[in-house]
Amino acid sequence: MRKPIIAGNWKMNGTIASGSILIEAFNSVLQDMELSCDVVVCPPFTAIERAVALTRDTAIAVGAQTMDYHDAGAFTGEISPLMLTEVGVNYVIIGHSERREYYGETDETVNAKIKSAFHHNLTPIVCVGESLEQRESGHTLDWITSQLKGALVDVPKEQVSQLIVAYEPIWAIGTGKTATADQAEEVCKEIRDYIRSLYDDETADAVRIQYGGSVKSENALEILGEPNIDGALVGGASLVVDEFIDIIKAANQIGA
Ligand code: PEP
Repeated sequence: MRKPIIAGNWKMNGTIASGSILIEAFNSVLQDMELSCDVVVCPPFTAIERAVALTRDTAIAVGAQTMDYHDAGAFTGEISPLMLTEVGVNYVIIGHSERREYYGETDETVNAKIKSAFHHNLTPIVCVGESLEQRESGHTLDWITSQLKGALVDVPKEQVSQLIVAYEPIWAIGTGKTATADQAEEVCKEIRDYIRSLYDDETADAVRIQYGGSVKSENALEILGEPNIDGALVGGASLVVDEFIDIIKAANQIGA
């Protein structure tokens, strides 16, 4: 059985101080729980080092929201995988729709980042998702498989089975509009079947697929209960202690 994974994407929010308060609040609840899911927080870069310190010897892992694929060099403003591993990061979100829309990320850069992440022992959380226009014109599944095809060029099956795919319909991110559990499951199943067609059963059955897009405590259990959904990538609700904890509890219930 795949272990559910809940990841909080804090985006460009908060400070080192506010992030620390959040993590301390998560720690105080999670330390009394027996966790059957993985939990990751992805703070802004400046808050990562403190987050790693505060989560040492806890069940929470720390991720970055993006990275460059080069190790070092003249790439002003970028953060390399080596810099992330130096501060103790274990996961990295790659190809979030906001990165694709505002910072020109493409399937090619996503592919390069996945390879670089694995080279540095970082687990990639690879985001794919369709726009409202693509959904309404019936192109969702074609679009998602084309994003995956580009993302996975020359990525070996041993790595694919370790990565996490986050299905995040763009129209559901930060809008309060959630895909129904059926809509989310349909696409997550397609992702798994597509990986099966590219690789094999073992790889497809191992890869963890998250849903992301306005996940909150009230819809988490239904979404996470779907057979091909193995967790959630959570934006807004990951900044609210009770909300994030309730989502983790829902995943825990499914994973138990
Ligand atoms: C996200 O940004 O990855 C996300 C899912 O955001 P929200 O939960 O706020 O829709």
